[in-house]
Amino acid sequence: MVKECKTCDKPLAATTKGDYCLKHINGSPEKRAKLSAALKRAHMCDPQLRVKARERQLKRVKLPEVKAAMAESCKRRRLWELGNAARTPEINKRHGKTWSERYGYASWCPPELIETAKWLRKMQRLSLGEVKVMIAEQHERDMARFRKGLDQ
Ligand SMILES: [Zn+2]
Repeated sequence: MVKECKTCDKPLAATTKGDYCLKHINGSPEKRAKLSAALKRAHMCDPQLRVKARERQLKRVKLPEVKAAMAESCKRRRLWELGNAARTPEINKRHGKTWSERYGYASWCPPELIETAKWLRKMQRLSLGEVKVMIAEQHERDMARFRKGLDQ
C-alpha cells in the first residue's frame, strides 16, 4: 500500500519515514510542536538570541520589497475589517477627543501645551504650581500674538 501525505494526498516514497511530503513536513502539527519546543529551549539557554532575532527582523521590515509584500498581504486579507468589527460604541464615542479630554489629565492646560507641561514636569522637575504659572503665561503670550495677528 502506498502511503499518502496527510495534508495534500501526494503519494510518498516507500523510504519516507513520516506521514508528510517534503512540502508539508514543516507544517505538520507534530513538527511545529517539536520546532516550537526547541526554539523555546534555545531562548531559555541564550537570552541574547531573542534580542538578535528582533534586531534582524526590524532590519528586514525596512526593506522596500518586504514593506510592499506586507502591504499587499494586509490588503489581500482585508485586515482593516477585523479592526472595524472590533470597534464598540464606547470606542466610537471616545474617538476624536483629545488626550486630556479622554483621561481628564491636565485639564487646566491648553491641549497644544500639554507636551511642554509634561517636559517641564518630568525633565525640568518643576512643581505643578510652577508649571501651571509658566503654562498660563505662555498661553497668554500665544493668545496676545494671535489677537495681534487678527488685528492686522
Ligand atoms: Zn503534502
